[in-house]
Amino acid sequence: MTPRLPTPVAIDGPASSGKSTVALELCARIGYLFFDTGILYRAVAAAALQRGVAVADESAVSALTRKLDISVLAPTVADGRTNTVLVDGADFTPLLRTAQVDASVSVVAAYTQVRQHLTEQMRAVARQGPVVMVGRDIGTVVIPDAPLKIFLDASAAERARRRHAENVARAEPSDLAQILAGIHERDQRDRARATAPLQAAPDAHVLDSTNLTRGEVVAEMQRLLQAAASQPAQSPAPYSISTAARVFRAIAVPSVRIMYYILSSPHVHGLENVPAHGPYLITANHLSYYDPPCLLVMWPYLVEAVGASDMMTDGGFMSRMINGYSTLPVHREVIDAGLFRTALNVLKSGRALYIAPEGARNPAGLGAGKPGAAYLALKANVPIVPVAITGTNRIFPELRSGRRQKVEMVIGAPYRLPVLPPAQRRAALPECTHMIMQRIAALLPPGLRGVYA
Ligand code: C5P
Repeated sequence: MTPRLPTPVAIDGPASSGKSTVALELCARIGYLFFDTGILYRAVAAAALQRGVAVADESAVSALTRKLDISVLAPTVADGRTNTVLVDGADFTPLLRTAQVDASVSVVAAYTQVRQHLTEQMRAVARQGPVVMVGRDIGTVVIPDAPLKIFLDASAAERARRRHAENVARAEPSDLAQILAGIHERDQRDRARATAPLQAAPDAHVLDSTNLTRGEVVAEMQRLLQAAASQPAQSPAPYSISTAARVFRAIAVPSVRIMYYILSSPHVHGLENVPAHGPYLITANHLSYYDPPCLLVMWPYLVEAVGASDMMTDGGFMSRMINGYSTLPVHREVIDAGLFRTALNVLKSGRALYIAPEGARNPAGLGAGKPGAAYLALKANVPIVPVAITGTNRIFPELRSGRRQKVEMVIGAPYRLPVLPPAQRRAALPECTHMIMQRIAALLPPGLRGVYA
């Protein structure tokens, strides 16, 4: 049996390194979709220029990006284009490679909200079928779990020479020195930007094409594809729960869900944000004792959970429920390497894991986040789904007054932390924890945002 070729394939590299040319040839050979992500950034830059939105105005360009309807289609005109790009229904393809767009595109590509918006569109394409995706941050940010990542590099002088030769071949005016200056400028902006800078993923194959022909690069890529295909699938030691816990969940989850509906009036918003499969981390605020069970029974799939060990040992009703569910115990005051290993194993096994990053209840509003959630997300490199739960603290007081409390669970859009090499992760924990807490805070009513107001 021929081993299946890996998908998606991520190809990153600087401007004019020949990524698109070789990726197109590779796609023609292996029948994969070719997707040049740079055209999405180009479409935003072209739309801003056309509509008189100042490229330097970050909030205006971000707002414009959210409004644009960009479609990338197979070529509709045989003029050498690799795709047809429609913006709000109009064919923008001829506008994407103008000198004006060349000069503006890396400016708009540095805006975080623009990147977030376009990155989600790219991930949707990666989920659709076999694809070779080309860009600057495909292997590091867009699809960091891609089974094959290639970083295609070449010296700036060689890249300028190739671009100049292409222009000359098309009988277009071309100035080598000007091209080289443009390449230096774009490289500098792409590498220096704060969000998703141009860099090789730690597990990417770096290919320097300065002294290679196009055919040699394509052949090397095909060799890497075959090598990745014949590698045995990585099998992380799978995390599993006991039969007793399985039975407990099968009975307890629907029963507790019914209890929530009888005792309160639960509303779940944002179910469309729940990833179709793991691994991912669910991070939620912790207002009262009744929000962890609420999340576990209202989530559309069974998920694993981290719970405080001191809640599991008092022998009471809650403690029996938490133990029965097979919650991972965390000791609040000590750094628990065993817990982290198990939690990572849960994620490596492709499951979802729920954690309350505050590490304690904060009835008055969101408290300071502990670094555990950020540590797990950085190490396992998984998406994070933010969740805000409110109303759980009022269920019993309202019942005593004969009313059913409205309980709201808001599920936000999944996101990822930056991909960092291991040596940089510890220093990044405070900032990443802050990011995790702010995503939760953004889903809470202002009065409950606590220290993140
Ligand atoms: O690949 P291309 O040169 O068409 O990309 C244009 C610009 O879009 C790049 O210079 C870069 O600023 C931005 N880009 C990006 N991330 C991607 C693809 C392109 O930042 N994944």
